[in-house]
Amino acid sequence: MDRYQGKKRAGRPGQGARLKNRPKYLDEVAFDPDRGMLSAPNGDDIVVINGATLRVVLDGMRQMLRSGSDLMWYNAGVHTGEAEGRRLQKAITTMGPDGFLHLINDLYTNLGWGKTTNHGLDMDRRSVVIETRSNPLTRNVRSKQPVCHYIKGFYTGFCAVVFKSDEVTVSEASCEATGADHCEFRIKW
Ligand SMILES: [Zn+2]
Repeated sequence: MDRYQGKKRAGRPGQGARLKNRPKYLDEVAFDPDRGMLSAPNGDDIVVINGATLRVVLDGMRQMLRSGSDLMWYNAGVHTGEAEGRRLQKAITTMGPDGFLHLINDLYTNLGWGKTTNHGLDMDRRSVVIETRSNPLTRNVRSKQPVCHYIKGFYTGFCAVVFKSDEVTVSEASCEATGADHCEFRIKW
């Protein structure tokens, strides 16, 4: 019997659905009980954080630091994106850019960063559009401005490494936090 008594919210999966759809990625996470530590296959430590806690941190920093907070999260995204780009770079040579982008989308969808898709890949114009639906920075958030500075920074750093470019620009053309249907990141490199 399902003993979960928490508040039901729209879009929230039931426990059964969560177990049935458990992402394969989680099977590759190692647990060291002596250190109380979770590790990814590449050895990086992993911390599971409640999405609401993440948003409280984001909101608190925004109130204290204003645009400085946006810049800090953007820079954190660039740093993480560069590291992920270095980690995954080899795959682009074997899979080609389109297959590679689908791999990335699957990976981040499975990691809980919202349903991630891409379209309009143009290798001549060096551009692509990546979309997220229900990414954790926007869930239950209402804002007049786009809020996904971390993700914007992530794709900036990621594409700089993967496409070997120091002219990457990423704009968030629409953001779910402002009431849009999805977040749309327009990327040029
Ligand atoms: Zn957004």
